[in-house]
Amino acid sequence: MAGMETIQYNLPQSRIPQAWYNIVADLPKPMAPVLHPGTMKPIGPDDLAPLFPLALILQEVSTEREIEIPGEVRQIYAQWRPSPLYRARRLEQALDTPAHIYYKYEGVSPAGSHKPNTAVAQAYYNKKEGTKRLSTETGAGQWGSSLAMACAFFGMECKVYMVRVSYDQKPYRRALMEAYGATVAASPSNETEIGRAILQEHPGTSGSLGIAISEAVEVAAKDPNTKYALGSVLNHVLLHQTVIGQEAIEQMAMADDEPDVILGCTGGGSNFAGLVMPYLGRKIKGQCNARVVAVEPAACPSLTKGRFTYDFGDTGHLTPLVKMHTLGSTFVPPGIHAGGLRYHGMAPLVSHVMDLGLIEATTVQQLDAFAAGIQFARAEGIIPAPEANHAIAGAIAEALQAKQEGKPRTILFSLSGHGHFDMQSYADYQAGKLQNYDYPEEEIAMALAGLPTVG
Ligand SMILES: *Cc1c(COP(=O)(O)O)cnc(C)c1O
Repeated sequence: MAGMETIQYNLPQSRIPQAWYNIVADLPKPMAPVLHPGTMKPIGPDDLAPLFPLALILQEVSTEREIEIPGEVRQIYAQWRPSPLYRARRLEQALDTPAHIYYKYEGVSPAGSHKPNTAVAQAYYNKKEGTKRLSTETGAGQWGSSLAMACAFFGMECKVYMVRVSYDQKPYRRALMEAYGATVAASPSNETEIGRAILQEHPGTSGSLGIAISEAVEVAAKDPNTKYALGSVLNHVLLHQTVIGQEAIEQMAMADDEPDVILGCTGGGSNFAGLVMPYLGRKIKGQCNARVVAVEPAACPSLTKGRFTYDFGDTGHLTPLVKMHTLGSTFVPPGIHAGGLRYHGMAPLVSHVMDLGLIEATTVQQLDAFAAGIQFARAEGIIPAPEANHAIAGAIAEALQAKQEGKPRTILFSLSGHGHFDMQSYADYQAGKLQNYDYPEEEIAMALAGLPTVG
């Protein structure tokens, strides 16, 4: 069909990256060390050994630029990778903007998001080192279903603590995890010490990722056959996601375009990091001058309103202390539908590049996020995950600004997942039942007042 404009940039299977990209090798300033919560001294591999297999601990502290992706992992990636890059031509038309809008779509994975990129890798290394069972938390259920699927591939058991509000809002995500063979409990649960303590103090709590992490860590720490898997935040998780950005760089070259601005939504920071770290590596070397923007929910604004300091990764204070942008580990975010963004902290690596001035951050309200998602769905056909709607809202704002200035602008964003299991939230939005949440200033002030003191 002569004259048809390209909207999809596909790479062959042979272009699945051979290695994950570790930006730590290229950072102008090293990251702050991870501290032991008891001694406040930097932790060593032994401290993490009860929770993670050695291969992942070594990746967590690695300063190697490239870490080879095992053949078995690449083989599984090949089911959905390389993921497509689209030019959003109909959205551009609807916005009547001179901007070029591109999105890298991770919803093509079997579980529906970017999360299998790390779930498969984590399950692989655990299996290799003899782990029988993995325990984890999940917010909206995307991570739980990804890990459940990966455990099914490698013949391991999977135990998921699902944040109470999502457990109630998203029953089909739970059904999906169970279909893959996982066991799911609403968090806080009666199964753990920390869960029982929190239930006693706050019987009606909607739960949070910080609480669910405590439960999953407690279970792994107590059982020698169980290890823990985290779906975001940690260096090795962000590392596994860098296949996204490496592919996007090749696909943008196919499109003969260079991004002026790159955006992603940020919960713990993994889909954002996956897309942007390979670009930031170039930015550090002066080969890319794109603005890089993290988009977070106004109800849980860790990068824009949090403090860059040492804090616990979980509410029960079982994890090591990491330096990150945090709202305080006891902060329980409002029950927004973007459950994957309800985390009190931010990945230390994302926090660090923010501190270095390599990225910026902005916030979006819940209703604006859904309005953007609906506009996107009507133009592009894909129903985005509520989390991804934040990135879309950020991208649309950029496109409208370009229109106002009457200047071209090339926008690239991460469409981290589809929303097929989140239709209740769309129904509620269309029925006018959703609301915005003001920045919960008082609660955050209280949670920040309880930050640990580090000498
Ligand atoms: C989990 C999730 C997120 C948030 O997690 P990050 O680690 O910040 O990427 C965003 N989008 C989708 C679709 C998710 O499943």
